[in-house]
Amino acid sequence: MIIAIDGPAASGKGTLARRLAAHYRLPHLDTGLLYRATALALMEAGLPLDDVVHAVEAARGLALTEYAETDLRGHAMGEAASQVAAMPEVRAELVRLQRDFAARPGGAVLDGRDIGSVICPQADVKIFVTAAPEVRASRRVREMMERGEKPDPAMVLADIVRRDARDAGRSSAPLVKAGDAVDLDTSALDVEAAFRAALAIVEARRT
Ligand code: C5P
Repeated sequence: MIIAIDGPAASGKGTLARRLAAHYRLPHLDTGLLYRATALALMEAGLPLDDVVHAVEAARGLALTEYAETDLRGHAMGEAASQVAAMPEVRAELVRLQRDFAARPGGAVLDGRDIGSVICPQADVKIFVTAAPEVRASRRVREMMERGEKPDPAMVLADIVRRDARDAGRSSAPLVKAGDAVDLDTSALDVEAAFRAALAIVEARRT
């Protein structure tokens, strides 16, 4: 079974994908990490984030590079990843890696922005996770405070709104709900309730 989970930043899709993968004992790929790692490679080399040639090279070398996940997770890396992800050449480079992962025997759970629409249009279950921008911003602020950072809530909200606009407005594989995806709005749900709702969607699609 292939489960595709898409949605904007801080919608809760990553947590849901991890929980569903554990529940069904499937491997999980957080595809945002691929774009984050590509951006980090450029930053570490002192190169601009719109350097297509080197970005493609970095994306190609990802399987060979080890990154500490903590270096990739931050809010600023998400913004950098979104710039790199807007380049069609970078996306094209990462397609095969993601499709190979999805093709594992038994299936997989992938989360991102274009899993149901581009990477795995044949997925058995597609969930489009959303939440109000204010709710997503306050989740991000809480996460950052837990890491000992001192975020400015208004700036975090502005970043999220800008990232949504870039991800949804780009010409190559924009953030879009696949026609056969099921909506899951987590604005008023805690982690447990969101997981139960996602599980119900998967179970309804499986039978
Ligand atoms: O999901 P996450 O916040 O880690 O993603 C970081 C950025 O990577 C997103 O804002 C988006 O621009 C890009 N991305 C993408 N396609 C995916 C996953 C992430 O364009 N499948």
